[in-house]
Amino acid sequence: FVKNTGRNGFSFFRDTMEEELVRRRELERLVRLASRDRNFLLHFQPIMCVAEGRITGFEALLRLPDDTGEMVPPTEFIPVAEDLGLLPTIGGWVIRKACQSATSWPDDLSIAINLSPSQFAAGNLAEFVARTLEETGLAPGRLELEITESLLLDDSDSVLRQLNDLKALGVSIVMDDFGTGYSSLSYLWRFPFDKIKIDRSFMDGYAQSAETIQKILSTIIALGRALNMRVTIEGVETLLQARAIEGLAVDHLQGYLFGRPQAEIEIPGNLLKDFLRTVDGLKDKGGSA
Ligand code: C2E
Ligand code: MG
Ligand code: MG
Ligand code: MG
Repeated sequence: FVKNTGRNGFSFFRDTMEEELVRRRELERLVRLASRDRNFLLHFQPIMCVAEGRITGFEALLRLPDDTGEMVPPTEFIPVAEDLGLLPTIGGWVIRKACQSATSWPDDLSIAINLSPSQFAAGNLAEFVARTLEETGLAPGRLELEITESLLLDDSDSVLRQLNDLKALGVSIVMDDFGTGYSSLSYLWRFPFDKIKIDRSFMDGYAQSAETIQKILSTIIALGRALNMRVTIEGVETLLQARAIEGLAVDHLQGYLFGRPQAEIEIPGNLLKDFLRTVDGLKDKGGSA
């Protein structure tokens, strides 16, 4: 913002660039420190199974506390960590930590972990995951690995081999943020995903274009079914949205309505209670409609 009325456009522009640079340096400092001291945190967001009417898993979401304890969002610090070449290390920590956590939960709960393309660069991700499963004792069937289409952009044999190796361990592979990329559809035949997660931008648009969004969702779900992939809808925030997708044959739902990402200490007891309240809310609404 402009504090001083005497300023011209050029200095305003320069100030903005300077502010961005300062912010960037600050993020780099925080990321370096957190990597050194392992000062990252994992939050977990519940994923609810429509058929079973209960929470059947959680997604691990990385958090970076700044000096005051405020959380820097991953959309800000992950690109920085990526540029610093620290993401493979941080990502390894995430895998280990998330698997460790999940072993202390009831064993019908799964854990979903986000992977970045740089974690595939060394070529030995499947070995690392296999070792982590062994060391933590987590059953491979409980682990889901989420990737985005950016991983498949360069169409490399090494990435496909590693995905197949991971799948061979008994781990599920999920295509995250489906529908946002340039060519999501073309990736569906390159790799047999176990699950697709429809990006939350579709739920965002629901209020403006309910009917169109509903058609798009049911088409993506039908496509997933035809390809034997389970389908999750992300970003379900309101009861209105939940009602709108009630009739769709979707397998899993995720969003603030069912629970925000939160520290492990809060789960699963609290979330299950919250969830049961939500289901009651849905029933009440359905009954009066
Ligand atoms: P994602 O994997 O698509 O994760 C879902 C994001 O949507 C999370 O944001 C979650 O907090 C948010 N979300 C969930 N439900 C709702 C909802 O109802 N409304 C709204 N408005 N948002 C919702 P978050 O935690 O900020 O993470 C953003 C992205 O950062 C993730 O998107 C993922 O791509 C990346 N990320 C997070 N943790 C990791 C990690 O450990 N490793 C890597 N490589 N990427 C990560
Ligand atoms: Mg994800
Ligand atoms: Mg997503
Ligand atoms: Mg995303």
